[in-house]
Amino acid sequence: MLPPISLGLWHNFGGVDVFEQGRAIIRAAFDNGITHIDLANNYGPPPGSAESNFGEILKKDFTGYLRDELIISTKAGYTMWEGPYGDWGSRKYLVSSLDQSLKRMGLEYVDIFYSHRPDPNTPLEETMMALDQIVRSGKALYAGISNYNADQSARAMAILRELGTPCLIHQARYSLFDRWVEDGLLEVLKEQGAGCIAFSPLAQGLLTDKYLKEIPVDSRMAKSHGHLQQSALTPATHTAIRALHALAVSRGQTLSQLALAWLLHDQRLTSVIIGVSSVTQLHQNLATLEHTAFDEETLRAIENILNE
Ligand code: NDP
Repeated sequence: MLPPISLGLWHNFGGVDVFEQGRAIIRAAFDNGITHIDLANNYGPPPGSAESNFGEILKKDFTGYLRDELIISTKAGYTMWEGPYGDWGSRKYLVSSLDQSLKRMGLEYVDIFYSHRPDPNTPLEETMMALDQIVRSGKALYAGISNYNADQSARAMAILRELGTPCLIHQARYSLFDRWVEDGLLEVLKEQGAGCIAFSPLAQGLLTDKYLKEIPVDSRMAKSHGHLQQSALTPATHTAIRALHALAVSRGQTLSQLALAWLLHDQRLTSVIIGVSSVTQLHQNLATLEHTAFDEETLRAIENILNE
């Protein structure tokens, strides 16, 4: 029961960003039916600041009953603090990190808590038992995993089911430019009855009209703390962006709308988590929902562009 489009706070909501801008985006998102907000312990920069800012916004704008209308998720798995207990997938890290996240957001519980990535050095059983314990303690209502491959997901989900806390959802990178989930993972999730929520559905902004010409100064690619590298904009990618843009225009859509619609027309996806740096981008992306159907010819044209 997640909304088709969810909002992620990886970029644009940290201590380096303009607080009122983030606040306006979250208010507009909720007012337009986005009932799911996705965070992680390390979102910022600095790490933790997106959760602190979100906590402040919740206090200012969402006090009282509105908490029950929101699905809030957070994660632990990437580097958060110094030393061996502030990273990866130990029970020590997951449990203490969630306690810190709850404090920063001023919450008693999150709706979904994720293991953010598989840990090659911690037994999978330990990580899954930590998720199970967290759900049983009431600090999260559901457990999820993120960035686990098909085989790791199948094993993790089997352990969770045995423990009595089924895995609700898998959060995976998925976009027109990154289709690794089609190679086994979506099949596993179907077998396991778990949802799939796609992150970076716009390939961090590549699948928008942003980089059609030059790199805008206020873009993620131009920011020193942005995670989108200039090296991602290869000549082949540039060509694909332009061709997809032309196809989108012929459908009466923007490129971001085409990219989101392409994901949403696949019934196997529960939701897509977008990032936005303005309320205008949010509205543009939400308008995708007016047109998510594709005919075979357009789907073929997309494949041809991507295979060129
Ligand atoms: P997107 O692929 O949606 O990229 C968002 C960026 O695209 C925006 O910041 C903006 O860039 C640009 N953009 C969005 N809409 C438009 C538009 N209409 N016109 C022009 N540009 C637009 O997603 P993210 O990479 O931000 O990821 C989304 C969420 O997924 C994260 O916030 C996080 O919650 C989750 N995530 C999870 C991960 C995991 O490991 N589980 C990893 C990464 C993300 P600009 O800022 O340049 O304007």
